[in-house]
Amino acid sequence: MANVLGREPPIPRLNKEGRWVVRVKSKTFVEHCERCIAVFLRGFFDSEGCVSTNGQIFVDNTDYALLTHVLYL
Ligand SMILES: [Zn+2]
Repeated sequence: MANVLGREPPIPRLNKEGRWVVRVKSKTFVEHCERCIAVFLRGFFDSEGCVSTNGQIFVDNTDYALLTHVLYL
């Protein structure tokens, strides 16, 4: 991430469950290349989407700006 974003590497922190966590926010990282866009969309639809019995795909989210960006991607 640090190489792609041209930033200092994020500093990992230990969470309450004893797992190391790194958080990075960046539109640039999501749009780095087609593979990064695909990975982001796959994760977004895995977490926010569902498939109806007739095969239609739905996605729900309360963040209008995020949904607009997903449409753009
Ligand atoms: Zn990429």
